[in-house]
Amino acid sequence: MIAFSNILGDVRRIFIKFALAVIMAVAASFLLAPYWQKSYAVIHTVLEISCIIISVSSFFVVWCVSEIRKTNLILGFGFLAVAIFDILHTFFWQGLGLFPGSYYDLSAKYWLAGRFAEALFLILSTTSIVKLSIHRWLGLALTIIASSTVAFDFYYTPGIFPVLITPEGVKPLKVAIEYIIISMFILFLFRVQKGHFHEDIITKEYLILATIITIPAELCFTIFTTITDFYNVLGHILKISYYFFFLKAVVAAFIIFPYKKLQISEDRFHKAFHMNPSMMMITTPDGKVVDVNECYAKLVGISRQEIIRQSFFEDNNEKVNWGIRQDSLVGEKLHNDILNCQTVSGESREIMVSTDTILIDNTQFVLVVATDITDKTRLEKEMARYDCLNVVGEIAAGIGHEVRNPMTTVRGYLQIFQRREQFYEYHEQINTMIEELDRANSIITEFLSLAKDKAVEMKRGNLMNVIRSLLPLLKADALRLGHEIYTDINYIPDTEFNENEIRQILLNLVRNAFEAMSESGEVMIHTSYSEGSILLSIRDNGSGIPPEVVRKLGTPFVTTKENGTGLGLPVCYRIAERHNAKIDLVTGPKGTTFKLIFYLA
Ligand code: ADP
Ligand code: MG
Repeated sequence: MIAFSNILGDVRRIFIKFALAVIMAVAASFLLAPYWQKSYAVIHTVLEISCIIISVSSFFVVWCVSEIRKTNLILGFGFLAVAIFDILHTFFWQGLGLFPGSYYDLSAKYWLAGRFAEALFLILSTTSIVKLSIHRWLGLALTIIASSTVAFDFYYTPGIFPVLITPEGVKPLKVAIEYIIISMFILFLFRVQKGHFHEDIITKEYLILATIITIPAELCFTIFTTITDFYNVLGHILKISYYFFFLKAVVAAFIIFPYKKLQISEDRFHKAFHMNPSMMMITTPDGKVVDVNECYAKLVGISRQEIIRQSFFEDNNEKVNWGIRQDSLVGEKLHNDILNCQTVSGESREIMVSTDTILIDNTQFVLVVATDITDKTRLEKEMARYDCLNVVGEIAAGIGHEVRNPMTTVRGYLQIFQRREQFYEYHEQINTMIEELDRANSIITEFLSLAKDKAVEMKRGNLMNVIRSLLPLLKADALRLGHEIYTDINYIPDTEFNENEIRQILLNLVRNAFEAMSESGEVMIHTSYSEGSILLSIRDNGSGIPPEVVRKLGTPFVTTKENGTGLGLPVCYRIAERHNAKIDLVTGPKGTTFKLIFYLA
């Protein structure tokens, strides 16, 4: 149904255009007729030369396009043959008077040969001949030789061809041949309609239009009596108009249509590349970025324009570390390799990268496709961490008290011995023993706060108050270590929390921050509120956390410090979990920021 209405729409459009062309041709002929009668030689020559220019141009379009892609050259050769016969027709036209008298007939023969060639090549272009891969130069030579042979025969052996025109007018044979040619055009239309023409629909429209106009044009040449006849003018003007549509058909088929197709595929590629949720980059084998998509540019934090044409392996380019080594571009391909890349802001992201070499216009390039898996791995790590915490928590709950009880007994006896005179000489050792026991006890206390189901009492209050009350202690600590501590406290609403636990989390994080900075470091405590969550962050300007430590962070007993327990952060994670909060961290060579995000229920 749709196809049918489409065809109807096409037919109507073609008919309207056809009617317009004929009306305009008739009007132009009326205007031109008086001048034609006075100086038909000049006007005929001008009209014919216009047609010749158009058919030569059509030939050139097809010829040039055939240089870069496989084309239907038959049509092009047709236009060339037509141009050759049209030139001869114009040259020998009796009205021009170059060859007086006897050439009435010759010019008509060239004319008919031109029309015949036109119709013949059109029909050929709908047959499987177009699929023969004849060499373009051979085809050109054949066309020129064949049309010149016919032309020579007409000229040198006029006796063997019947006479078509006499000074009295056209002979019935000429009319018959014109009708044959008209039938050939109709046959061509038929074949196009049957789908035998191999170019696109937009071409067909012009082709059909042009071919239909040939019919009234040919008819004009069957009914005229003298060369100054009105039908002679009309026929020539119609001829220009159908040549014009042939040219349009050729330009549409060989230039506009392929160009549109190219544009669409370019558009498709552009969208697939730039809107791809994966990061994509095309580089030269030596690492010059040819193009990169928005996703990649966004991740590294530089604009596309800035990235393009810079080599990311150049030494002076320290802005971004793409994570990909140059040898991995030319050597073995990467396949879902997990690498670390560093963004402009110094943030480290984990990416999964695959590379492949691609050929574009015979030049080798490398296609890099990467996915940012930082969040995914972070989630996985979190899950693993909580699993681990759960196990440790259960152990803590189970054995923590059992260990602590005997220790309390031992510590009690030690204190008693410390006061006895007979142990005075062991005073120092006993002191050390007590200290060590205290240390062990504090570790167990921390260990106990890892217990999963530890009952903590939540009270409503404001975290800003906890920070303020803890600040003098933190300041004293900072002073002792030669650091500074600042606050940037912005309003946050009241929440439910356990003060002791929040104090512990703050102490642990700030202590870690102090310990990460060599000397005269700065720590900033910040709070803010947005969209249902409270942010509490602690930033230091220490040396950052190496990736291999980040990966294990929060697992009990992971420490890089000589006297560290590796329990500080696990406790923080556990407390965060109990408070419906999340811990995020951003770390780099310029320092680390731990973010505590409390989600308000
Ligand atoms: P501990 O402090 O006893 O080592 P934690 O669980 O508190 O144990 O911390 C574990 C490890 O994480 C530390 O040893 C340190 O390497 C690293 N770390 C934690 N916080 C920071 C920080 N702010 N800057 C640098 N490294 C840190
Ligand atoms: Mg610590």
